[in-house]
Amino acid sequence: MGQAEAMTEDAQRAAIVAAARELARLGLNHGATGNLSLRSGDAALVTPSGLTADALTPESIARMPLTGSGDHVEAVWEGPLPPSSEWRFHIDILRARPEANAVIHTHSPYATTLAAMRRDIPAVHYMIAAFGGPSVRCVDYASYGTPELSRLALEGLEGRAGVLLANHGAIVIGADLRRALWRAVELEDLARLYYLSLVAGGAAILDDDEIMRTVARFNHYGPRDDA
Ligand code: 13P
Ligand code: ZN
Repeated sequence: MGQAEAMTEDAQRAAIVAAARELARLGLNHGATGNLSLRSGDAALVTPSGLTADALTPESIARMPLTGSGDHVEAVWEGPLPPSSEWRFHIDILRARPEANAVIHTHSPYATTLAAMRRDIPAVHYMIAAFGGPSVRCVDYASYGTPELSRLALEGLEGRAGVLLANHGAIVIGADLRRALWRAVELEDLARLYYLSLVAGGAAILDDDEIMRTVARFNHYGPRDDA
């Protein structure tokens, strides 16, 4: 059983707070940037808007229905604070990708630099396979919090577990928070390697067949629930 299904809602809320603090500790988010969500039955737990990781508490996390008409012009939530301004892409991703139970958005420095350069990340390292294919795409720019940004993010995530958002940041998804956090770290590392190789004059890029073989092997690799 995956981490997400095994947890009570209270435990899920505590895990979101811990993951947000870990992202800050690792320098992947700063201040109130970034946000997280976790599937909880037929709802999503979404971090509130504008809170630093330090200020985040389990009770402050909003609960948003994943069922319903789906047009979501306005945010619908239960909780003391409004959900993240990026609730649309959290909800849209959790609806569209049943294998994903956790969504993490960061403004991590190297991933955001490449997003500002509007560069897809190619296979500079075999760890790109953790994202399901030979690249992590960078999608066009759309203003934060908009349905257009959500649409672009979903497009960029097609067949992938991560995407760069032009001049903004990144999104990673996972079967549980631990795997999403793992990908947030690995994406920043890939972005750093690619950035450094660009600065140094370029890298050799691994071929698609090798990456797809590695993707198949990665079905049995990654952080373990019993680790
Ligand atoms: P929130 O504080 O509303 O989650 O916004 C942070 C962010 O990264 C917007 O893209
Ligand atoms: Zn953002």
